[in-house]
Amino acid sequence: MRGGYQLRAEHRPANPGRAVRRWHVVPAHRLTGLCRRLTEPVAEVRPIADCWDVDLDLRCPECWAQYAVLSASLPAWADSWSPGRARRGVPSRGAGRGD
Ligand SMILES: [Zn+2]
Repeated sequence: MRGGYQLRAEHRPANPGRAVRRWHVVPAHRLTGLCRRLTEPVAEVRPIADCWDVDLDLRCPECWAQYAVLSASLPAWADSWSPGRARRGVPSRGAGRGD
């Protein structure tokens, strides 16, 4: 997807393995976030559509701020991006089974 973005993790050592210190917004096929921090080639990746599901504590403030500005002028493909549509456990329609 031309002009797309993705989320890439900045990791910290954990016991065991590694944990996500922070997520960055990174142009597709790049490693450098909007905040200009370089992420690892082996960093975890999430689709940009997940960006509003990421915990506030784990968001790179610079990346999210810049992405918010960018998204205000993004073309139609960005329609799937919408802060109002963040999935926060909204029950699906028809989920109620009654008693
Ligand atoms: Zn960042």
